[in-house]
Amino acid sequence: MASGDNKKVALITGINGQDGSYLAEFLLNKGYEVHGIIRRASTFNTHRIDHLHADPYAHKGGKLHLHYEIYNLAAQSHVKVSFDLSEYTAEVDAVGTLRILDAIRTCGLANYSKFYQASTSELYGDVKETPQNENTPFNPQSPYACAKLYAYWIVKNYRDAYNMFACNGILFNHESPRRGETFVTRKITREVAKIHLGLNECLTLGKLDSKRDWGHAKDYVEAMWLMLQQEKPDDFVISTGETHSVKEFVQESFKCVGKEIVWKGEGVNEVGVEKDTGMVRVKVDPKYFRPTDVGFLLGDATKAKEKFGWSPKVTFLELVREMVQSDIELMKRNPLA
Ligand code: GDP
Repeated sequence: MASGDNKKVALITGINGQDGSYLAEFLLNKGYEVHGIIRRASTFNTHRIDHLHADPYAHKGGKLHLHYEIYNLAAQSHVKVSFDLSEYTAEVDAVGTLRILDAIRTCGLANYSKFYQASTSELYGDVKETPQNENTPFNPQSPYACAKLYAYWIVKNYRDAYNMFACNGILFNHESPRRGETFVTRKITREVAKIHLGLNECLTLGKLDSKRDWGHAKDYVEAMWLMLQQEKPDDFVISTGETHSVKEFVQESFKCVGKEIVWKGEGVNEVGVEKDTGMVRVKVDPKYFRPTDVGFLLGDATKAKEKFGWSPKVTFLELVREMVQSDIELMKRNPLA
């Protein structure tokens, strides 16, 4: 905590992303001085953190001791995009992580800093065992996962080689109203909100049978922080321990707006039909298929629970409802959103 002689400073790469924005709020509430790094882009990309600027944090203290925490959340984080931008993904997600670790080391900060790496359940890929825990072998299935695999190991190597306090948070999928619009959950809740308001009739998806362990990003940023507060650096799985299919996410989202979806047909011809009206609400388009995809993920976060008492607070249904409600409000304010 920020007391008179003990100032905590956090640097968040990717502070304008879903997780970065929640983590910034969380750390500001704990009294941290928070710094962020964002990617300069031609489009506006700070909407998730604009509300934090208006509320600048001022620290009044006496003797100052700095404790740096670096949360490396910046990444090209979209699996499908990584097939098209594989080299860029490797630059940012793999070598980018190395560059930050090296910067910490060459600046002589290795013993004064704590480093959090946004590792991912995509490392398990075509899973070797179920549920997946910290000892489950990795089997990556995308350029994204391969890049993150390098990052995972270089974090471990720098921890061993230079005694750095560096942790991999192996986070399973985590969502929220701030999730990027091209991830499947947010795509679904946006489209369901549009359909509910009469702005659209149907939504088009890729693989409907994929199963994911979906949690709420707000719960997950707390786990990031908790990892860095432990005595020893270590790697932790963060997950809900429940898995649901894309179809279930669709059905529950439509239920939030009073529509029941039933499934007909198979493969690319499968459709989701609204039971009461017979209208087709969900179609499949192979353009959303991936050259290789991860069909099933289910995490076991026992280690995090035992070591620092973390468990998720938001349930699957609460997550779906919050996202659908938020997108209905968004579309009401701006039908073109
Ligand atoms: P990921 O687990 O990091 O790849 O998160 P995503 O939300 O991008 O995808 C989760 C799963 O949903 C994957 O197996 C996708 O193939 C599947 N999926 C089905 N339709 C879509 C779609 O239209 N967009 C995305 N992003 N994923 C889809």
